[in-house]
Amino acid sequence: MILIFLGAPGSGKGTQSELISKEFSIPQISTGDILRNEVALATDLGMEAKTYMDKGELVPDDIIIKIIENRIKEKDTKKGFILDGFPRTIKQAEALDTMLQNNNLSISKVILIDVADEEIIRRLGDRRVCPNCNAVYNITYNPPKQSGTCDKCGGKLIQRNDDKEEVIVKRLSTYKENTQPLIGYYEKTKRLTVIPGDMDIKSIFNNILDELLYIP
Ligand code: AMP
Repeated sequence: MILIFLGAPGSGKGTQSELISKEFSIPQISTGDILRNEVALATDLGMEAKTYMDKGELVPDDIIIKIIENRIKEKDTKKGFILDGFPRTIKQAEALDTMLQNNNLSISKVILIDVADEEIIRRLGDRRVCPNCNAVYNITYNPPKQSGTCDKCGGKLIQRNDDKEEVIVKRLSTYKENTQPLIGYYEKTKRLTVIPGDMDIKSIFNNILDELLYIP
């Protein structure tokens, strides 16, 4: 099973990919998490990526495509994988098609989580993350048991640099300009499913599970 989660930043695609990853025991591949880990390790790649991430811009396609090419060759992807935050441009989508075709693979489903802009802005402002284990919380809808502390690993929760108000607006416009055209791209393949993202986490998860029953 090869799944793509599409959606604006803050749509809940990371949360849902994690749940689906556990349900089907296939890895969640989040380019955002991979890049943040590189930033935390202060690698050359991380330092370069940070200059784009902090401004709410996309990291150049060739860098991201290489990351994915290497990642999907790893052993744990044999049963399938979930792409969370990739592709984000038509060029990335085309590169993915080529990678998959070369390995006789194809995309099972593209799941678009649809959330209105005002809700996105509110959610991103309320988002807190654990830099240690990448867990994601929302201080209103999905708060940790103890304020400021990760339920899973006890790490100290932070607000991502790019979740600050001035960057959120830029990230939304980057999404509209570069990533929204992928909706049309994947509609043509008849593999696109739109899931309303304005419900609670469990209901969205159940709706996605229902959709996954119908993979041809
Ligand atoms: P995310 O956690 O998915 O919101 O990603 C955080 C940031 O990482 C984005 O705002 C981009 O700067 C960068 N990034 C993540 N995935 C990609 C991608 N597929 N293409 C380009 N930049 C990306």
